[in-house]
Amino acid sequence: MTPPRILSIAGSDSSGGAGIQADIKTVTMLGGYAMTAICALTAQDTTGVRSVMAVDPEMVAAQIDACVNDIGVDAVKIGMLGAPEIAAVVADRLERLSIPIVFDPVMIATSGAALADAATIAAFERLMALATLTTPNVPELEALGGDPGMHARRIAYIAKGGDALGPEVIDRLVIPGQPEKLWTAPRIDTRHTHGTGCTMSSAIATLLARGASLEAAVEGARAFVRAALLAAPGFGAGHGPLGHQA
Ligand code: PLP
Repeated sequence: MTPPRILSIAGSDSSGGAGIQADIKTVTMLGGYAMTAICALTAQDTTGVRSVMAVDPEMVAAQIDACVNDIGVDAVKIGMLGAPEIAAVVADRLERLSIPIVFDPVMIATSGAALADAATIAAFERLMALATLTTPNVPELEALGGDPGMHARRIAYIAKGGDALGPEVIDRLVIPGQPEKLWTAPRIDTRHTHGTGCTMSSAIATLLARGASLEAAVEGARAFVRAALLAAPGFGAGHGPLGHQA
């Protein structure tokens, strides 16, 4: 079977746990073909982010064009963007495509470092309007205006509950005009959660490209993330990577 072609537009994580690296592993494990447009380089380990360098916006556009114009793209995942100008060229390019787009509005690394400034977060608006699904965690949803703000802009999103406190994790799928769908599961007790958001969003993109409904894609992605959390190898002194090994 021809694998679905997934383009990850995101940042590189030198530790291999999150970002582009998590996306490539996730897409591959779910039977997709992974391509990348790298927006930023990060030098980081499991304890923190040492350095960040944004890529020239024209270079980001050139990477997207190279993938779209030759191999072709069946679904897109957007992660760390690195600068408002990068968010703008990504929106320009994606406006021309009519394929599933999953937008992870990355703001903070698992270790606590900021990965988006206020201007970049302001530039998320166009991408949220274009996206099939936006995937905020608890602090990201709050920064984006919470449920009332998302409802007012008619944005489709999954509110991920992994960062909330308590023994259960509740994820809510909110699609304008439809009843909310809730998933509740016991919390997996581990500090090795680095890359959870990246893994979730690239898994949803891959499953959508394989023809799943939004609800089925979220369900499959949740199961994939939970299995990866349970398989975390325990690397590093901080928040280690998930287990993406086969
Ligand atoms: N993208 C990059 C390049 C990162 O380094 C990180 C976290 O460190 C993220 C995205 C978001 O990580 P998570 O999937 O843990 O939310």
